[in-house]
Amino acid sequence: MKVRRKFIFILNNLGMSVSQPSNNPSFPLSQVVQIGNLSVGGNHPLCLQSMTNTNTLDTAATVAQCIRLYEAGCEIVRITAPGIKEAENLFNIKKELNKREIQIPIIADIHFNPKTAEVAAQIVEKVRINPGNYVDRNRGKVDYSEKEYQLELEKIAQRLNPLLTICKENGTAIRIGTNYGSLSERILAKYGNTPRGMVESAMEFVQICKDFGFQNLVLSMKASRVKIMIEANKLLVERLIESGQYFPIHLGVTEAGNGDEARIKSAAGIGSLLAAGIGDTIRVSLAEEPEAEIPVAKKLVNYYARKGNAVHQKNPKTSDITGKGDFPILKMQYPGIPYDELLIRSTVDFTLLHQKTNVKDIRITNQGQTNDSQLEILSQNIQQALGIRNYKTEFIACPSCGRTQFNLISALEKVKKQTSHLKTLTIAVMGCIVNGPGEMADADYGYVGAGPGKVTIYKGSLPVLKNIKETEAVQALIDLIKKEGDWVEDESAGLDL
Ligand code: SF4
Repeated sequence: MKVRRKFIFILNNLGMSVSQPSNNPSFPLSQVVQIGNLSVGGNHPLCLQSMTNTNTLDTAATVAQCIRLYEAGCEIVRITAPGIKEAENLFNIKKELNKREIQIPIIADIHFNPKTAEVAAQIVEKVRINPGNYVDRNRGKVDYSEKEYQLELEKIAQRLNPLLTICKENGTAIRIGTNYGSLSERILAKYGNTPRGMVESAMEFVQICKDFGFQNLVLSMKASRVKIMIEANKLLVERLIESGQYFPIHLGVTEAGNGDEARIKSAAGIGSLLAAGIGDTIRVSLAEEPEAEIPVAKKLVNYYARKGNAVHQKNPKTSDITGKGDFPILKMQYPGIPYDELLIRSTVDFTLLHQKTNVKDIRITNQGQTNDSQLEILSQNIQQALGIRNYKTEFIACPSCGRTQFNLISALEKVKKQTSHLKTLTIAVMGCIVNGPGEMADADYGYVGAGPGKVTIYKGSLPVLKNIKETEAVQALIDLIKKEGDWVEDESAGLDL
């Protein structure tokens, strides 16, 4: 109880950590979990993760990507296993990595398919399951009596127990990975599509694991909206501490997209939680080559980790807020640091002070090192990432994985080029029809991979144009936006900006 009170005090005063050393010694530590040879949680250093986007059946390409990730500094690599064949091929991937003496723990990413998890758990060090779809199937039911709800939980326990037995026998860890947008209808009926629903979805699985005597668990709460991701993680830690067992937490802002916008969303979500003492492993999710994620993750860990080589910085304080009434501005001055560092530090610093004071405006200076227009765009991107104000279209894009059957990285660029001026809209670019439609959650339009070279265009959650050729899909998206009356012309087009 004492620890919990202290924890809640820290959460309530999250902004305090702005001016404190980031390795806050009073913050409760998670318990330690083994992922192969790697110890995660407690006082162990934060681990950097990423995920391959090759076809899992293409052993050579997947091994080559794992090696590139390992050489970049990735410490745990996740590989999708959509079916039994892919799960079995994880054996060959591991064998090839072992031949090259690359000892990097592998996580099999599982959705909808307990059998696949059971195969993968005998091969790799960890499996990630999604409590929203591991057993539950959404069939349009909106009401559950207490009895129906309990019966569903019993069904989940029966379906989960074989995996727990295999994991116990093989020393395999499990990540219960909840995503906003892929909650089961049972959870939605009781808690809605909310951070609380995300947390309760995971805690039901935690309880089943504990009842079984299985504790090799890591948890995650991911969302593309930064504020939801932060809120869900804080709530999760509170619930875990209440329950008497604080399992390690994996942090990530999912479907963050690419470029500066994605780096800023990750910095705001992951960085502010790390600065508050939450998180044991992290993934900066980018719709770019997976290796590009690692340098960003390293910078976040170096600045904001509570463990390892945490850096004590002079961050902005409440007294740096100028102006009165409804329009206070936070002025943040940096000593001429490189732009990639500035992006991360200014984002996390502003996020922490915004949480504490609700300051909404920001002026950044960097001793003449960064030009005014870059600083202006950086400020705008930070405000948009925190949901304060939209300056352009909000893009959600998954980082792609072995389920993706089209070139998502170039498709995202094309969609952004044509539609970035639609600042009242959220547009999603998602790699697969299995998880994409759910996880793009509240997007207005979606460009979703439907098969090799095929795309389905969504209006909200409805698939409107199905199986469009990839070469025609961007135009089809634009035509649909026009038909729905949501298109405006880009007034800056043709201007020499
Ligand atoms: Fe993979 Fe993207 Fe589908 Fe998620 S939405 S499973 S990252 S292709």
